Amino acid sequence: MGAYKVVIIGAGLGGLSAAAYLAKAGLRPLVIEQTSFPGGRCYARKIDGVEYDIGAIYIGERAPRILQGVFGIDCAFKPYRIGIRTGSDFVSFPFDRQTLQELRRCKTSWVDILRFLIKVPMLFRSSYFDRYRSVGEVLDSLTEDKNIRRFWDVMFGVLGVSPYRLPSHYLGMGRSAIGTVVGNPVQLSGGNKQVADLLVDFIRQHGGQLVFGEKVEQIMLKDARACSVETNRGKYTADFVVSNADIKTTILTMTGRDIWDETYLQEVEALKKTLQVVNIFLTISPLQKFCPDFGVFFVAEEMAKGFQSLEEGRFPDGLMFILQVPSNLENSPSQCHRATLQFYHPRGSVTPEVLEQQVHRVMTEGLERLFPGLSDRVVNYTVFDPTRYEQEFGLKPFVYGLSPDLNYRRFPVQTPVSNLFCVGDSVQPERPSVPQAMESGILCAQEIIRQVF
Ligand SMILES: Cc1cc2nc3c(=O)[nH]c(=O)nc-3n(C[C@H](O)[C@H](O)[C@H](O)COP(=O)(O)OP(=O)(O)OC[C@H]3O[C@@H](n4cnc5c(N)ncnc54)[C@H](O)[C@@H]3O)c2cc1C
Repeated sequence: MGAYKVVIIGAGLGGLSAAAYLAKAGLRPLVIEQTSFPGGRCYARKIDGVEYDIGAIYIGERAPRILQGVFGIDCAFKPYRIGIRTGSDFVSFPFDRQTLQELRRCKTSWVDILRFLIKVPMLFRSSYFDRYRSVGEVLDSLTEDKNIRRFWDVMFGVLGVSPYRLPSHYLGMGRSAIGTVVGNPVQLSGGNKQVADLLVDFIRQHGGQLVFGEKVEQIMLKDARACSVETNRGKYTADFVVSNADIKTTILTMTGRDIWDETYLQEVEALKKTLQVVNIFLTISPLQKFCPDFGVFFVAEEMAKGFQSLEEGRFPDGLMFILQVPSNLENSPSQCHRATLQFYHPRGSVTPEVLEQQVHRVMTEGLERLFPGLSDRVVNYTVFDPTRYEQEFGLKPFVYGLSPDLNYRRFPVQTPVSNLFCVGDSVQPERPSVPQAMESGILCAQEIIRQVF
């Protein structure tokens, strides 16, 4: 169906960033996307006529900065705060003077705050955190105060695993999760999906092409090089193939196993997926007043224990969820608030009754814990468990694709087949998230450009 310099499988943020970079260099890439939307797990969909974020909620400020700094794309955004329910108050993020005042309101003593602030620079010294195995252990060494601790647990909990299962080297500068986790949250004027929309426009303006609703089934190899991809509609030949389907799918199902070295295959096979998420899309009466300038709220009790239960296949005893209310950042929402609520689904499956109980608990006790009276102000809600999510959106709701387990090493973007690349969650650089997916796409494009010219 055509011959291309570069064919990219998937229009997630990894694939789109690679395509945009290659298009800018004049390589006119082709992007093939199986669903009818770009953005993959960082996009929005209309549900009952209302638009909701269906994937990434908190994209930090790295993503818009990449749009501006790397691609020169103009985009408007504004900062907002993330509130973590702590007792009868919130402790909020980004970490600044307001956070300190909130910690005081939550009865954290000045002594504990000062002790913590003096120790914080340790977070940036590998000689310090190298002594510990996990992020959780480093945090234990920094503070005993439960409010400060909950704040940091939530920051790292968003990565989808207990801080005790995140390697301490995640704290390292440069390639660290801390950069993503502690970056300032911003809201793009067009919402999170705007990152993908802007990249799509950029790719087209620079001579790239995108096709939607077409699924790549096979990557064909000849003489140890990728030569074409086969979709449900036809075949495209390519000098370079980039896959934004995760590395496991790419290596284990899209290519013949016999071409891979046994050790490489085993390493890919051993990768464990992260936990999936249950989404609830809500409309909330405008009578509900959220804290001004807050766009995201967390309720998180006993995170480390909670993650242990989830890994064992049970919902946690404590409440753990995130509620994003983008409409709260609009000047005057005259109609109902739109909100996306997400919580982790236990590994494996649970019965519909158990899931229903958990949804009920989050929608009553949980919302009340967040704001008293909130559960009565919910006008409407729709639950998407992982199965429904996959059926309707064409993607599985894995939060970060593959597990950032202890001692887990991210794969290079270039596979042992020299003209086949993987971008997105499963590969370098070591910062699982939306910005990481974008950075991996850019790294990959830079390597292809180096090989071409
Ligand atoms: C519910 C949820 C909440 C999240 N919250 C956050 C958050 O708050 N902050 C954050 O930073 N990250 C969050 N994430 C993670 C974030 O969304 C991902 O890290 C990021 O979007 C991954 O981008 P990607 O490019 O790796 O892949 P994806 O977004 O998975 O994109 C891959 C694309 O490839 C397409 N594709 C796959 N196989 C084929 C094929 N065979 N043929 C054609 N196309 C194919 C898919 O349809 C998809 O569009 C969340 C994820 C989920 C699901």
